[in-house]
Amino acid sequence: MAPHRVQRYKEGMVREILVWPHPLLKQKAQPVAVVDDTTRALIKDLFESMYAADGVGLAAPQIGVLQNVIVLDTTPRQPEAKPLAMVNPEILSYEGKVDYKEGCLSVPGEAEDVERAAIVTVRYLDEQGVERTLRCDGLLAIAVQHETDHLKGTMFVDHISSLKRELIRKRMKKIQAVQEAEKKEAAAAAKKARTSGRQEAR
Ligand SMILES: [Zn+2]
Repeated sequence: MAPHRVQRYKEGMVREILVWPHPLLKQKAQPVAVVDDTTRALIKDLFESMYAADGVGLAAPQIGVLQNVIVLDTTPRQPEAKPLAMVNPEILSYEGKVDYKEGCLSVPGEAEDVERAAIVTVRYLDEQGVERTLRCDGLLAIAVQHETDHLKGTMFVDHISSLKRELIRKRMKKIQAVQEAEKKEAAAAAKKARTSGRQEAR
């Protein structure tokens, strides 16, 4: 499927989350021209995929869709927070500094300290296309910076030392090799099932 073309997905489908350094994770996503049912279907998929992976944020490029859409739900750490979908998010201002140990669903099993602003003000369109501005602190402020980075093709590993980044790259290559082998195995099993099905039908 062409990843830059948003298609109508089944509602709330759990989609595969790409593992860094997948080339799509390094590309810039495009602004959404109109917030419509296609955008809302994408948002549902993002929420489903994020919850299935136990994350607090997910950006569309992580499921191979190069559109400026992110979802966030920091309620596990911030009970007062709400699930948020942001279309075309833009950070207007940064306040203070904080070091936070970040992880990423596209870099499974890794966490490293990243310096971020403690508070950010973000402007975005909600899932109805209404423009909103939100001042965020705590984990939500970190997550907004992390997820909007994804839309620019920037990963949290781009903020750490190159030595640490290369070690993580090696570990991700191993994970990707296992995933590829599993996919090949599944495809071979499916082919075998189809072939034996045809034989039985004869
Ligand atoms: Zn991430």
